[in-house]
Amino acid sequence: MRFASLGSGSHGNATLVEAGATRLMIDCGFSCKETEKRLQQLEVAPDSIDAILVTHEHSDHISGVARYSRRYGTPVWMTPGTEAVHQGGEVAELNLFNSHRSFRIGDMDIQPFPVPHDAREPCQFVFSDGQHRLGLLTDTGSITRHMVEALEGVDALILEFNHDPGMLADGPYPPGLKARVGGDFGHLSNRQAADLLGRLDLGRLKLLVAAHLSEKNNHPDLAREHVERALGGQPADIHIADQLVGVPWKNLL
Ligand SMILES: [Zn+2]
Ligand SMILES: [Zn+2]
Repeated sequence: MRFASLGSGSHGNATLVEAGATRLMIDCGFSCKETEKRLQQLEVAPDSIDAILVTHEHSDHISGVARYSRRYGTPVWMTPGTEAVHQGGEVAELNLFNSHRSFRIGDMDIQPFPVPHDAREPCQFVFSDGQHRLGLLTDTGSITRHMVEALEGVDALILEFNHDPGMLADGPYPPGLKARVGGDFGHLSNRQAADLLGRLDLGRLKLLVAAHLSEKNNHPDLAREHVERALGGQPADIHIADQLVGVPWKNLL
């Protein structure tokens, strides 16, 4: 099993997850052209993606989905709530899933779980090939017991480290947006993400990717500090997924 990030942040998110003969793209928040360019850097042919899974309807996750799906005939999976409000137009093939129930695509088991975020029916995922598990959690304003249970014992985790509360408070965002980002249905601060790590059994964790960092309200060094402190002596590789280049392929061994 392996994964890569095409880029992560408030201007666009997309993640590749691969197991056996199955290759999934989670979200497509870049234009079709930009996605093709980034896939090429990862040596992935655009028509080789078996399905696109959508976490929620915010444009940094969905803006490229429908066009990409139509261009390459890629099936799309989303919750009924996301389907009800997304504005991207027709997709090549639409599949709805229940955000409380696991499902399978090809060689991959997918466990969705709902998250508190200001979208209609947002969710995030745990992927498994039967041997290894990869957790993906961004775009959540708070930590729930349910997500702690879902992420328990993962081998790799892509986790939101969105903002530093001090930088958010002193930063350029208007007051309403500051309240939204820092609220219970907004995004995880460095501290909240580190607290989540403190609540998880990390015995199997080998890879941690800090993702969805705010370019205005966070700094990679701050996020990394929080990750390192939270992981303590855990011998895990740490990566920061940024907006421009994401993270190259990482294998779960
Ligand atoms: Zn987002
Ligand atoms: Zn969002």
